[in-house]
Amino acid sequence: MNLDNVEYSTFTGWIDPPTDVLPSLDGDLTCDVAVIGGGMGGMATALRLADRGRDVVLLEAEFCGYGASSRNGGQIASVPGGDLRLLSLFYPRKVPGMVRLGENSARFTEDLIRAHHIDCDYEPNGLAFAAVGRGQMLRTRTIAAILRRAGGGGTVGTSEELGIPRTFVGGMREAVGGALNPGKLSRGVRRALLASSALVFERTKVTDVRRDRGRVLVSTPRGSVRANKAVLATNAYSGEWAITPERLSVPMWLIEMETEPIAPQRIAALGWTSRSGVITQHQIMEHYRLTPRNTIVFGVRRIERGERYPLPAKAPDRAMVEELAGAFATRFPGLADVAVERAWGGWIAMTSSFLPIAGQIEDDVYYSIACNGHGLSQAPYVGSLIADLIVDGSRHEDLDGIWAEEPTFPPFLMLGPLGLRTVWALDRFTDMINGSRRRARRAAASSHV
Ligand SMILES: Cc1cc2nc3c(=O)[nH]c(=O)nc-3n(C[C@H](O)[C@H](O)[C@H](O)COP(=O)(O)OP(=O)(O)OC[C@H]3O[C@@H](n4cnc5c(N)ncnc54)[C@H](O)[C@@H]3O)c2cc1C
Repeated sequence: MNLDNVEYSTFTGWIDPPTDVLPSLDGDLTCDVAVIGGGMGGMATALRLADRGRDVVLLEAEFCGYGASSRNGGQIASVPGGDLRLLSLFYPRKVPGMVRLGENSARFTEDLIRAHHIDCDYEPNGLAFAAVGRGQMLRTRTIAAILRRAGGGGTVGTSEELGIPRTFVGGMREAVGGALNPGKLSRGVRRALLASSALVFERTKVTDVRRDRGRVLVSTPRGSVRANKAVLATNAYSGEWAITPERLSVPMWLIEMETEPIAPQRIAALGWTSRSGVITQHQIMEHYRLTPRNTIVFGVRRIERGERYPLPAKAPDRAMVEELAGAFATRFPGLADVAVERAWGGWIAMTSSFLPIAGQIEDDVYYSIACNGHGLSQAPYVGSLIADLIVDGSRHEDLDGIWAEEPTFPPFLMLGPLGLRTVWALDRFTDMINGSRRRARRAAASSHV
């Protein structure tokens, strides 16, 4: 691919930062609920609390939508993240609840878009698990069977049947979901939040959360909030305070890239008739999706572990960009001459079980975390359920499956630098022997424009 003019961003390629960033908290105040972090999770929590008449304050270190929520691939998934085969092996009773949570999250986010008239280029074309070889196809069929047993849905087929690029053997289209511009979605939710009764402070980095005289005391550089309850919604940045459960998650850095606009006939030649975004079935996925500008946004393939807090604001390094561009050219040899316009990255929180987690620390501090790369719809849904729990005092059944009764978590086995490198190497080895390169070249030759 042509990498001569890549714009490297420390924010996102989807939108510019807002021009109306709100002032920071200056002074002390009290409220009923303090929400910390203004991603999709925190914003949806605060919005729901405000809608339900609660006195809520949201504190955000930069501006609402600064984190992963504006940086992701924009794919609304309805199948839970992580490996469903492992989930059904080790936690079989959790599977139906997780499947329900995944589908309800996708529907919730679609409703959020509709309710607030958010123009975020949403195309509800589903999302497809894409198999680059027979092994991945087998894995896809197994996952489809698990989903069916758990009451979920997914259509298995060849690439022609699913309308995904011919470079893939086939795959499974998820029942609900699609692709959107996550920057525009975050911006729309931010607008709705600012129009609500919630009090929002941006440029306000919380430095400590602790209990003080029967209430939760949230400290910031120039003021504090004393609240009856607090919700921690800081995603990957969560390891910062003594109150945060230990080993809740580890931060992972991953990147996204966008091509220049591609001629429609060249895209048509790929056989991508459904326009569904695709995620490969590697241990660490690659994903590819179209945008309304006829560009392709693609990402991941390699993840890097954050070593210490605070997490740095960074742009992708050249080596990661070259590797991902190489993957693109391998999957789509007919588009190997296309230029990459921009590259950016973001931090996600990964839990040791690869499952989303939510819970409570004593009776006044709530947290939810991770969603492991599927948080675009799960983070706001889980956030809104936590808001309902605070108001109603009872827990929705979709929270039960991810609720940590005790905030203690096992160590991270494969998530150290060596483990990640091993998993990555395994993916590269299987790519060498699964015939995917040959298939990609044949697909390109048969559809040359
Ligand atoms: C590159 C990339 C691609 C992804 N692709 C997809 C995808 O296609 N589909 C999908 O479903 N998911 C995807 N994800 C995951 C998804 O984006 C996240 O799971 C989701 O956005 C998490 O939302 P959140 O609100 O929990 O966190 P975030 O959006 O990260 O928000 C956390 C907020 O907390 C703020 N904060 C942190 N520390 C403090 C502090 N001390 N005080 C105050 N505020 C603080 C941050 O500034 C940030 O705004 C992707 C993630 C990345 C990074």
